[in-house]
Amino acid sequence: MSPGPDKALDVLWRASPNCEQRRGGLRPTILLMHYTGMTRADRAVDWLCAPASRVSCHYLVDEDGRITQMVSEDARAWHAGVSCWMGETDINSASIGIEIHNPGHDAGYPDFPEAQMDAVIALSRDILTRHDIPPRRVLAHSDVAPDRKADPGEKFDWAGLARAGIGHWVPPAPLAAKAPEHAGLEPETVRHTQQLLAYYGYDCPVNGTVCARTERVVRAFQRHFRQSLADGRIDRSTIDTLERLAQ
Ligand SMILES: [Zn+2]
Repeated sequence: MSPGPDKALDVLWRASPNCEQRRGGLRPTILLMHYTGMTRADRAVDWLCAPASRVSCHYLVDEDGRITQMVSEDARAWHAGVSCWMGETDINSASIGIEIHNPGHDAGYPDFPEAQMDAVIALSRDILTRHDIPPRRVLAHSDVAPDRKADPGEKFDWAGLARAGIGHWVPPAPLAAKAPEHAGLEPETVRHTQQLLAYYGYDCPVNGTVCARTERVVRAFQRHFRQSLADGRIDRSTIDTLERLAQ
């Protein structure tokens, strides 16, 4: 694997030992967005490069927009964990990961600064020139691991990325005045929603009932595509948004 940064952008290079060859002949077809969930970006880089952590990521973008690369794009970094998208479970072999520094939901979840988002957009554009990553596969960690992860969360500017030509996104359907209770949903409506989520790529059961797993998948969907309310409830706005995305 070739050490050193992959791009023409102004990028710091700090090698992480936590990587290996991609498995199964997989090449990057997913761009996966994270937040660090740590208090300081420099400590997050230290952690992602520490042999004992057993985690890593290709890139980290700090709050000022500085980019650090830790793993070459041709290598398998360890950022996704137990994950699934479109039936693929080795997301680390199938993706390039960007850690966007933010302390996360457990520490106040501040807004992502503009300079940081500008850098995420520039870096993403650059990565997309080198790899065959379709717009529908620019994803959140929470999309591929809805049971375990909430990052980068409902404040991440997916709309801004889409305006910059990155990812797949449609304006969300407006919220109704009051979301219906799940108890009032017809099983066919639940099944239809689950089918659409599974069709789009989520690892969602299709059983006609709003089980705990379905709620977590719906919440992940909302954090990405209907960010004004990520409550895990199947409502009209969620279904409408999903139907337009799945077209
Ligand atoms: Zn993550």
